[in-house]
Amino acid sequence: MRKVLIVGAGQSGLQIALGLQSHGYEVTLMSNRTADEIRSGRVMSTQCMFHTALQHERDLELNFWENQAPRIEGLGVSVAAPDSSRAIDWVGRLDGFAQSVDQRVKMAGWMETFAQRGGQVVIHGAAVGDLDYFSRTYDLVLVAAGKGELVTMFERDAARSVFDAPQRALAVAYVHGLGPRPEHPDFDAVRCNLVPGVGELFVMPTFTNTGRADILFFEGVPGGPLDAFKGVKDPSEHLALTLELLEKYVPWEYARATKVELTDANATLAGRYAPTVRKPIGRLPGGGAVLGVADVVVANDPITGQGSNSASKCAASYLSSIIEHGDRPFDEAWMQSAFDRYWDTAQHVVKWTNAMLGVPPEHVLELIGAAGQAQPVADRFANGFDDPADFENFFFDPEKTAAYLESVRAAA
Ligand SMILES: Cc1cc2nc3c(=O)[nH]c(=O)nc-3n(C[C@H](O)[C@H](O)[C@H](O)COP(=O)(O)OP(=O)(O)OC[C@H]3O[C@@H](n4cnc5c(N)ncnc54)[C@H](O)[C@@H]3O)c2cc1C
Repeated sequence: MRKVLIVGAGQSGLQIALGLQSHGYEVTLMSNRTADEIRSGRVMSTQCMFHTALQHERDLELNFWENQAPRIEGLGVSVAAPDSSRAIDWVGRLDGFAQSVDQRVKMAGWMETFAQRGGQVVIHGAAVGDLDYFSRTYDLVLVAAGKGELVTMFERDAARSVFDAPQRALAVAYVHGLGPRPEHPDFDAVRCNLVPGVGELFVMPTFTNTGRADILFFEGVPGGPLDAFKGVKDPSEHLALTLELLEKYVPWEYARATKVELTDANATLAGRYAPTVRKPIGRLPGGGAVLGVADVVVANDPITGQGSNSASKCAASYLSSIIEHGDRPFDEAWMQSAFDRYWDTAQHVVKWTNAMLGVPPEHVLELIGAAGQAQPVADRFANGFDDPADFENFFFDPEKTAAYLESVRAAA
């Protein structure tokens, strides 16, 4: 049977590893942390995943936490006015529910499942030198190591990378005790709060090591008032700062948050990275080649909550490309074609995410405003998080936005 090495036990690496394993491939998974270290370690993401990405997990029967995790049925947008009231506020309904399962729970659980099913797990932080050796002993080496140091093996694709610096400062806190959304306490939703010129606050329910919780996730414009978490190491200090900023910039969310406490000692995260697209093939000093996966090759800012979704979509796409290739060699031409197939989907995510990082043009403001008046617009916007390709039809081009809004008005 064909031998595949996967470096990195995150969303994409584990999904491909478990998928290939179920098809009889001999898979080795290299992880720089054990399952227990991941489970008891620091939070890594907010990992809200929408229907299509969740369906890829279901297709592989990996949806182990589906019945425990809150079902996120809506996606709300609020825009803060200069006086910190809500100038805009609406909730779109998702056609299929979304879910967030703490990656600490999911990756640890998937890794143990992979090992229990006979997969080989090697605990080792891989270096380029290791890959040189392994590329000679495996039929295929996939690098699914996220935004870690191994990305330096993959050349930045300047034509596809709009930014060369981080566009947001990220600060996450997992909490228990958040009150319900007063507008719609009957169903769970992700709340996207936009504070023009300052940044965003995302609030969403999740399933973590200690059960149901909520995540408070600030995206601060660099150098602005939300870019305040650098150097804050103490988790309780992180939470206190989060609450202070909530009260000042998004008081309607603060009103729900007065009784929160952190879920655990590793429930906070702060950092930043530059959104980057890379060339998919990493060439090794000894002449071998490896294929980059998910965040290694396409890392978007989390402002649109797409990274785990994209990792799932990339894994599903690569899995098909590998299986369809049969016994033929995994040469560079195949690697490029596997990436190109994924890029068909990923390009829409990159374009939309980069657009959301900028100052919204007039027609986008109009669209977001119209969603407050017309539920179909809110619903379509919300479902774009599942299928960002749809934004091509009504978001980027002012004429298409106008035509879409006109068609909604006519239908009403
Ligand atoms: C604050 C924040 C919020 C986010 N919110 C969302 C969201 O709501 N929705 C969404 O879809 N996405 C979100 N994302 C993005 C999402 O978490 C990532 O895009 C996704 O996890 C990428 O998956 P991956 O498989 O490429 O890499 P990762 O999940 O990063 O996994 C890579 C793994 O490789 C391991 N590794 C690294 N280097 C090595 C090495 N040398 N050897 C061995 N192992 C190694 C790492 O420890 C890790 O386990 C968010 C990200 C952040 C930072």
